[in-house]
Amino acid sequence: MADCLFCRIIRKEIPATVVHETELTLAFRDIHPRAPVHVLVIPKEHIDSLIQLKPAHAGLIADMHQTIQAVARQEKVEATGFRVVVNTGSDSGQEVKHLHYHVLAGRKLVWPPG
Ligand code: AMP
Ligand code: ZN
Repeated sequence: MADCLFCRIIRKEIPATVVHETELTLAFRDIHPRAPVHVLVIPKEHIDSLIQLKPAHAGLIADMHQTIQAVARQEKVEATGFRVVVNTGSDSGQEVKHLHYHVLAGRKLVWPPG
C-alpha cells in the first residue's frame, strides 16, 4: 500500500525504533507511548484490520504472537505482565488502517480501559 503509514515504516521510508523483526513481522516503539513499554507489532503484509484475517494467515498470526513473546522477554516484562490491544474499526478508535497489536507494559494497567 503506497501511502499506508505502517507500510512506509516497513519500507524504511519513515524512521521507527525497531525492537524485533522476523521474516513476517515488525515490532517498533509507538511514537506516543501510553505506558513505559508501548510497542506495536505489525505484519509486513498489508492487512487493514483483524477483520480481514483468514485461515491462510494462521502462520502469520503465530509469528505475531511469538514476536509479542519476544518483545515481552526483551523488555523484561514477561513476569510482571503486559496487555495486548487490537483496535478494530471506528468504534475502537483505530487510526492506522494496517493491522497492529499494541503491547503495553511497565506499570499497572487500568481495567476496564474505557
Ligand atoms: P490505533 O489508534 O490503534 O490505530 O493506533 C495507532 C498508533 O500508531 C497510535 O498509538 C500512534 O501513536 C501510533 N503511531 C502513529 N504514527 C506512528 C509512527 N510514525 N511511529 C510509531 N507509532 C506511530
Ligand atoms: Zn500498510
